[in-house]
Amino acid sequence: MKELFASFFSTQSKNIFLFSKGRVGLYAVLKALNIKEGDEIIIPGYTCMVVPSAASFLNIKCRYADINPETYNINPSELDKHLTESTKALIVQHTYGIPADMNPVLQWADKNNISVIEDCCHAFGSRYKGRLCGTFGMASFFSGQWNKPFSSGLGGILLVNEKSLLQNLNSIYDQAVGVSFLENMRLKAQIIAYNSVVTPRTNVLVTDLYRFLSKVGITAGSSSNQELAGKIPPGYLKKMAPCQIREGQKNLRGIQKTLNARKQNTEIYTKALVNLGYQSIKHDPNSDCVILRYPVHVANKKEVLRLAARNRLEIGSWFETPLHPEGTDMGAFGYYEGMCPESDKASREVINLPTHDKITLKEIHRIIEFLKKHTKPALLMPKN
Ligand SMILES: *Cc1c(COP(=O)(O)O)cnc(C)c1O
Repeated sequence: MKELFASFFSTQSKNIFLFSKGRVGLYAVLKALNIKEGDEIIIPGYTCMVVPSAASFLNIKCRYADINPETYNINPSELDKHLTESTKALIVQHTYGIPADMNPVLQWADKNNISVIEDCCHAFGSRYKGRLCGTFGMASFFSGQWNKPFSSGLGGILLVNEKSLLQNLNSIYDQAVGVSFLENMRLKAQIIAYNSVVTPRTNVLVTDLYRFLSKVGITAGSSSNQELAGKIPPGYLKKMAPCQIREGQKNLRGIQKTLNARKQNTEIYTKALVNLGYQSIKHDPNSDCVILRYPVHVANKKEVLRLAARNRLEIGSWFETPLHPEGTDMGAFGYYEGMCPESDKASREVINLPTHDKITLKEIHRIIEFLKKHTKPALLMPKN
């Protein structure tokens, strides 16, 4: 899997590290950069709680920068506001697969001597001015979770661009725990179960069931209860399991088909949505987007999600709150409502549509018809 991943990014496999989750890759790189208690990092206020939680396990303070509502990515003009003497790194996320505005971001980071880490959990194959997302920062992390660009049945990949970090990362990786025989069997069973029952029509149902089962401790969920409560779970720094490596390898081999499907489906949505009066996805004209989930601002998000589930439509919600998911104690990670008004608004309004290769044309048209019938575009926030 390392080889396939490395060849996609035209790099060598010694620059790739395979972990149990994407967030563990982030944790490892923060550690390798020697960022520690008292230091600060800037992250977008529109992300998964597992991002600030990885930092919190190293007692690093997160400051939240607001997003550009048109790209859902960090707004470069917000960065100065959050810069302090203690700022060490900036996490740039390419939300929904839309490349972040890297030129101003890198200029800012360079001027202020800040390390850039890319959160590529939504972006595999997207390019900013011709260059692949994931190749700009010191390092970038990817997720192999079920709903991410390609699945390894949970899992995380760290791509290191800054060679001087390799020595530290090799020793951190050596400290990571391996997966036991039993745990590997359990993960394998989960992969088989998931691959056999999840279709666009069952996706929402299965996701809810899966969240419930992991809450009560039956499946290995995305986030443990301890993690949600802000404590580092035992065995957090863990390697990818052999069965996950195999699954990831299989899915990476077929990645081109997935990337093509995502592009085609994105075009279909754009045409239909523009006709219905929605904004199409905005990005730098020289960027190439592989959209993971197609974001749409709607006026009645809660109702739309409820009706979509009832109609068995695979309509999702990222992010439910500026630190996803709903129910996260955001204050525990230093986020308060109003800190990032555009992120607050996007969390209240944005639903997302599937672009993956298992979604059929018929299903896409069902989704479009549904939107036509049940919702309308949300209004943009007035500019001042
Ligand atoms: C999914 C996701 C993560 C975390 O990935 P895991 O593999 O679940 O740790 C981090 N950032 C973003 C933006 C994500 O969507």
